[in-house]
Amino acid sequence: MNYFKGLIWCLNCGKSYNFKNDHNLHIYICSGTKNYGNEFCPRRVVKEEDLLYLVENHCRIYNLKFDLNKIRTRELVEKITVDVNEEVKIYYIDGKFSLWNSTNIIY
Ligand SMILES: [Zn+2]
Repeated sequence: MNYFKGLIWCLNCGKSYNFKNDHNLHIYICSGTKNYGNEFCPRRVVKEEDLLYLVENHCRIYNLKFDLNKIRTRELVEKITVDVNEEVKIYYIDGKFSLWNSTNIIY
C-alpha cells in the first residue's frame, strides 16, 4: 500500500495527494482539500486499487512486467495528475501514459 507516495498531484490547487487508509479502503486525497477544506479545493479521492488496475492494464498492453516494487522505486510511473474534471493521467517513465475519467479508460 501507498505505492504511489509522492507521485500524485492535483491540477486544481497544485498540491500533492496524500495516502489514507480509511477502514481498509486505501485512498489518496488532495492535501489542499484535507488541510484547507472543500472551498479551497473540491474533495477528490482516488482509490489506490483503481490506479493499480490502470498500471497493470498498461503493462499488459505494452508487454511490460507488472511489478509493484517498480512503482515504489519510481522505475515505472513518473507522476500522476488529477484535473478539475476528475480525469486521472498516469505518466510512465517511458513517455507513455494512461488517461482515465473514473468511468472509462480513455487511452
Ligand atoms: Zn487540490
